[in-house]
Amino acid sequence: MTITKYDSLKETISDLAVSGGRPAFENGLHVGRPNIGDRVKFAQRVDDILDRRWLTNGGQYVEEFERRIADLLKVEHCVAMCNATVGLEIAIRALGLDGEVIVPSFTFVATANALQWLGITPVFCDVDRQTHLLDPGKVEQLITPLTSGIMGVHLWGRPCDIESLTEIARRRGLKLLFDSAHAFGSSYQGRMIGCFGDAEVFSFHATKFLNSLEGGAVVTNDAALAHKLRLMRNFGFSTYDQTDSIGVNGKMNEVSAAMGLTNLESMDEFIAVNLNHYKQYKEELAGLEGISLLSFDENERSNYQYVVLEVDEVKTGISRDQLLAVLHAENILARRYFYPGCHRMEPYRTLYADVQFSLPQTEYLAEQVLTLPTGQAITPEIISVVCAIIRTTLKNAAEVRKLLEKRAAGVTV
Ligand SMILES: *Cc1c(COP(=O)(O)O)cnc(C)c1O
Repeated sequence: MTITKYDSLKETISDLAVSGGRPAFENGLHVGRPNIGDRVKFAQRVDDILDRRWLTNGGQYVEEFERRIADLLKVEHCVAMCNATVGLEIAIRALGLDGEVIVPSFTFVATANALQWLGITPVFCDVDRQTHLLDPGKVEQLITPLTSGIMGVHLWGRPCDIESLTEIARRRGLKLLFDSAHAFGSSYQGRMIGCFGDAEVFSFHATKFLNSLEGGAVVTNDAALAHKLRLMRNFGFSTYDQTDSIGVNGKMNEVSAAMGLTNLESMDEFIAVNLNHYKQYKEELAGLEGISLLSFDENERSNYQYVVLEVDEVKTGISRDQLLAVLHAENILARRYFYPGCHRMEPYRTLYADVQFSLPQTEYLAEQVLTLPTGQAITPEIISVVCAIIRTTLKNAAEVRKLLEKRAAGVTV
């Protein structure tokens, strides 16, 4: 990773690539470059897998991965899956959800897709502007006779208001499932995410805090549910030639489990790196009017996998998308997760065309939020440059804005 102008930045607009200067980074600086643990250990495990010619179907690495996760999270059962999307679908099916399920729209589209794929209506609920998480008061208002469950999302690895959602689910006789794709290694009231609701689903996709290349897991304290999940994950087979239920292929393979186990051993290092990055961003962006960094509860465990910036255009004088354009010109590939919200994406935009009017906080956040690069592939030097560019942009906001508006209008500058 070459940084081309770290020493020479004077915080004037001419420093910025958007006004014709050289980009700060020669190669794209992506959000979500994978965290990778001890590669020698991984290679040894892969060798062992090949030696034993046991690649999937109840292999020893998958079993070990499941055991280690259950121990770490203090949850009874962990059922590893090929990815979180299939994990969600299997969990939804095993829990017997149908009709309508209440979910946030401010999430990755897989949350809604898992329901719609099974013919269940995702009923989009607004989030809290401060926390970005499902608003329990609004959840309650959306319950109808068709509602079978609530699916909370621990967005950015910060837990939902689990206490309120659990109380609502219990009182209204609903199932409670959590899309915990972001929250591996996070805690809520001192207990690890993974032991709440009827079940929780993790993603171990390459870009997530802990990766198994591709992968996921459903965790639960319900033994009967865990048994059902295991059968459904493997076509419904209960014995070699008998099925108990309908099933699908949701199995994790041994190489993925080897990667997951290897990365699990480096989990504390990943957290330490992310935490340092988060603190550095916080420090270097402090005091910038209209820019705020989403914070984490320091009394809880967090994986700090997402550095989330909120841009208040009224105060900064520059929109989130304009800041994004400046960063992209520097090869800083910041992302506007989870723009524009599931309800504005197909098929939901067409299927539930009227719903957008009841999601003011979601719509507001979808226009404000930006995620910045972090993780093992990023260094303190890189973060300093990213922050210097953000500071330079804000300092020259009016000029930058004019430049970008002219360009958008087709005027060559
Ligand atoms: C990544 C993600 C998923 C999907 O996970 P996969 O393992 O890629 O299928 C689901 N929900 C959320 C919130 C995610 O961020």
